[in-house]
Amino acid sequence: MTRPDELTFAPLGGVGEIGMNLYLYGIGKGSQRKWLAVDLGVSFGDEEHLPGIDLIMPDIRFLEKERKNLVGLVLTHVHEDHFGAILDLWPKLKCPIYATQFSAALFRAKCEAERNPPKIPVTVVPSGGKVDLGPFNVEFIPVAHSIPEAHALAIRTSVGVVLHTGDWKIDKTPIIGKPTDERRLRELGDEGVLALIGDSTNAVREGTSPSETEVAKTLAELVKNAKGRVAVTTFASNVSRLRAVADAARAVGREVVVVGRAMERVVQVARESGYLDGVQNFRGADLYGHFPPDKVLALCTGSQGEPRAALARIANDDHPQVTLNKGDCVIFSSRTIPGNEKSVGGIINGLIKQGIEVITDRTHLVHVSGHPRRDELREMISWVRPQLLIPVHGEALHLFEHAKLARACGVPKVLTCVNGDLVRLGPGDPAIIEQIPSGRLYKDGNILEDAKSRAVVERRKIAFAGCAFVAIALDAKGELADDPEVELVGIPEKNTAGEPLDDLVFELVISTVETLPKAKRRDPDAVGESVRRAVRSALNEQWGKKPLCYVHVLTV
Ligand SMILES: [Zn+2]
Ligand SMILES: [Zn+2]
Repeated sequence: MTRPDELTFAPLGGVGEIGMNLYLYGIGKGSQRKWLAVDLGVSFGDEEHLPGIDLIMPDIRFLEKERKNLVGLVLTHVHEDHFGAILDLWPKLKCPIYATQFSAALFRAKCEAERNPPKIPVTVVPSGGKVDLGPFNVEFIPVAHSIPEAHALAIRTSVGVVLHTGDWKIDKTPIIGKPTDERRLRELGDEGVLALIGDSTNAVREGTSPSETEVAKTLAELVKNAKGRVAVTTFASNVSRLRAVADAARAVGREVVVVGRAMERVVQVARESGYLDGVQNFRGADLYGHFPPDKVLALCTGSQGEPRAALARIANDDHPQVTLNKGDCVIFSSRTIPGNEKSVGGIINGLIKQGIEVITDRTHLVHVSGHPRRDELREMISWVRPQLLIPVHGEALHLFEHAKLARACGVPKVLTCVNGDLVRLGPGDPAIIEQIPSGRLYKDGNILEDAKSRAVVERRKIAFAGCAFVAIALDAKGELADDPEVELVGIPEKNTAGEPLDDLVFELVISTVETLPKAKRRDPDAVGESVRRAVRSALNEQWGKKPLCYVHVLTV
C-alpha cells in the first residue's frame, strides 16, 4: 500500500527576521516531493556589522539540489524583501516564475536597468486568477498593501488548502488597486483551510492600521499650507502614495518633478499599468529650476537616507538640478527601516540646520504601514478559520505575539518554526519533521559569498582595530638577513607617550627573533607565529586594541 501524500512547508528565509522571504511548499514523500517556491527576496546589510555588504539573500543550496522537482516560483508582490534576490539566484534555478501584470512589469524594468539585462521569463497570471503548477493549484487573491497588486495565495493540494497571506493589511480605501478581498477569503474559509501562513510584522500593534486615504488627507493639508518649495520622499513602489502626492500638488497648482531613477522607473511602470490614470504628467528634474518655489513639488527617492539617492544629494546641496533653501519643506512620507536611523537622522538634522522644515511620521500621519495590526489579524482568522496557523514575516517577538493571538482567537493548532525547518502541515498533526539546509548569502561586490566566509569577518576586525604587516628575511642559520619591514594600517602613529608605534614594533620584531632558541629560528612558521603574538600583545599594551597581524617570513 502506498502511503498518502504529505503536504509540507519550509521557510528558507523570512522567519525570525523581516526580509529575505523564501518559502517552500512540498507535496509527496521524501525524494518524491514536488516543490513550489513563494517569493525570493533580499535583506539589507548594515554597515556596522557587515561592512561592505549591501544585500543578504537566502542560501538556496537545497533548492538547487531539488531543481528538477521545483514546479515554479510564485511572487506575492514585488517589494525587495520578496523579489530582490531573483536577479542573482534565478540563474541557479531557471524555474518558471509566475506573477501578476504590475509585478512582472516592474521586474522587467528592474532587469532592463542592469548593465547586461538578463533574460528571465515571467508568466503573467491575472489578479484573482488561478494557475496549475504540477500538484499545486495557486489562486492569486488581492490584498491591500503598500505596493500595487499584492496577493495572498490560496494553494490547493490533494491534502488541503493553504492560505499564504503574503504582506497584507485591511484598507477599505487604498487609493489605488483592490482592497483586501474579504468575500473571497470568507469563501475560502467555507471551503476549509488547513493552514494559514501569515504576515506577523505588526502583530505587536493593537488596533487597525490607518488607511492610505487618511495619509492623502494629511499630505494635501501640508502641501496646501507650504509657502516655499516642497520635497516629498517615499518608497518609490508605493504608487498610492505617489498618487496622493500628485493630487496634493495639483490641488494647489504645483508641478510634480520626479527625482531619482527608482522613482522614475516606478512612475513609468505605474503609468503603463494604468495605476496613474487621470494623474497629471510629471516633469523631469531638469525643469525644477524653471518653476517658482510655490509652484513646484519634488518627489524624491532616498527616504532611507541612502547616500547616493536624490534626497541625500539635495540635502548636501550636491544635486545638479534640485536645490532647497531656508523656508522650504521636506516631508518624509515613509518609515525608517531599522538600521537606517543614523543615515536618516543625519539628513534630517542637516536639513533643519539649513532652516528647512522637516515633517516625519513622528508628528504627522504622513505614513502608514502596509501590514496588519492585531485587529486585522483577528479579522483574517475569523474569515479564513484555519485549522493551523504558522506565523512568518517577522522577528521572534512578532512571531511569538502572532502565535499567541491566534491561540486566543481559537485557532486549533498554532506552530512556530524557524528558517530551515521542514514542517508537515498534514495529514495528521502538524510537526517539524526534518531540517533542510538553509542560511544566508552575502552579496559582496559582484560575488555571492557564504555568510561564514572570512572576508566580512576580517573587514569588521580591520575596521575596528586595523592591521599590522611584518616581513622578515631569515638566512640559513635563522639569523635576520636584513631589517624587518613593518607596515601599520588603521593603527595610530604614536602611543600616548608620543613614541612612533612602528618604531616600537620594529624593535620588538628584532628582539623577538633574536631571543628565540636557535632550533626554533630555523622553522619559518614558528618564527612567524612568535612574532605575530609578540606584535599583537605589544600593540594591545600600547594601544588597548589587538589588530589583525600578518607576518611573512622569507628564507634567503
Ligand atoms: Zn511588502
Ligand atoms: Zn515583506
